[in-house]
Amino acid sequence: MTEKLFLDNSYLKEFQATVTNVQDKYIILDRTLFYPKSGGQSNDIGTLTRINDNKEFQVVFVAKINDEVSHEINEPELNIGDKVIGRINWERRYKLMKLHTAAHILDAVFQEDGEVLITGNELNEDKGRIDFNLKDFSKEKVQVYIDKANEIIKKDLQIKNYYLKKEDAMKIPGIVKLAKAAPPDLPILRITEISGIDIQADAGTHVKSLKEIGNIILLGIENKGKDRKRVYFDVV
Ligand SMILES: [Zn+2]
Repeated sequence: MTEKLFLDNSYLKEFQATVTNVQDKYIILDRTLFYPKSGGQSNDIGTLTRINDNKEFQVVFVAKINDEVSHEINEPELNIGDKVIGRINWERRYKLMKLHTAAHILDAVFQEDGEVLITGNELNEDKGRIDFNLKDFSKEKVQVYIDKANEIIKKDLQIKNYYLKKEDAMKIPGIVKLAKAAPPDLPILRITEISGIDIQADAGTHVKSLKEIGNIILLGIENKGKDRKRVYFDVV
């Protein structure tokens, strides 16, 4: 199984690994920092450089396949056993980290107001999007939530990642935030906690402290149906 280095250190930018499987342009490594598109967070991109001849390959997409991380490269020229240096596009990843932590604060602020559940989310480099099953939905109302979230960011609280046995994690109310989402089918869950604000079972990458996010701005809202009141936001 690929060791997922991003789970315990989201600030690493470079790593060394060995190719363990190759299918045409799709590469599996023994360890990786490349975050695969999952849980609403977009994938990392970057490069893999083969150590013995310094040849550089572009990593254009990263997917989660079962419990492995598959790196799609631009040329099918890597072989099993090749040692590589991987470098992620840090600017893109850091933006995604800020958007992801910002999304958790927004989740918490919306939920504070009642039985609001998240029905979908997508975080891309240029913006984030969350769908809620909100009843009362207007730009003014959403702006109030965004303002509350920005007040929380100013408190500069710490974000912690740790692991709990699933049976213990499931005793925490609201640990699985996404409506209809079954708890991950794993004996141990990774938990992301923003002290006093939000706690979720989560495998994404987050910033270490809230101030790194900057300011959340509302880009727009869209009514996609009863359970899909869509909020677009960015961090600046
Ligand atoms: Zn998350």
